[in-house]
Amino acid sequence: MDTAAYLRSHIRTVPDWPAPGVMFRDITPLLQDPKVFRVLIDTFVHRYMTPELRPSVIAGLDARGFIIGSVLAYELGVGFVPIRKKGKLPFTTVEETYELEYGSATVELHTDAVKPGDRVVLIDDLIATGGTMMAGRRLLEKLGATVTEGAAIVDLPELGGSSKLRESGLELFTLLDFA
Ligand code: 5GP
Repeated sequence: MDTAAYLRSHIRTVPDWPAPGVMFRDITPLLQDPKVFRVLIDTFVHRYMTPELRPSVIAGLDARGFIIGSVLAYELGVGFVPIRKKGKLPFTTVEETYELEYGSATVELHTDAVKPGDRVVLIDDLIATGGTMMAGRRLLEKLGATVTEGAAIVDLPELGGSSKLRESGLELFTLLDFA
């Protein structure tokens, strides 16, 4: 079995959660099995260890992006910065609001989290409409950093987020998709 199929076989699909009609892709089984967790993290480590792709910072999106992003940063020997839902970060922040299917959401980043010249890999567990990753990228760019790549375990290509992100000029690396 190749890596994508191996990882996919450890993602659980929960129908009608958090709302009727949604097929939620639950990544917690990937984290729960130490062998699978290692394969998952090592796949990202292998890519971002290469000198031309090595970032100076890993930024993780609330909340599952924290789990994979912090371990990845630790393994690469670079810093980790969290992009959080509004109201959670204690210091001064920059913020970005983006549209959801119903309503909007706001994410924040500490103003000293990155600096001009930083090369950032922005990571989350999954890309659906791409709104969360786009907002995270804008936050990092507001502070003068460059997002060299967006990374995620899962892409849901039918929701159009990954193509929208790529069209906007963002490089993307995802491990598997669900059509
Ligand atoms: P987007 O902003 O791309 O529409 O949604 C992606 C964000 O919502 C990510 O932060 C992701 O964690 C969460 N998300 C949306 N749908 C799913 C899903 O089916 N599974 C998981 N694990 N996360 C999801």
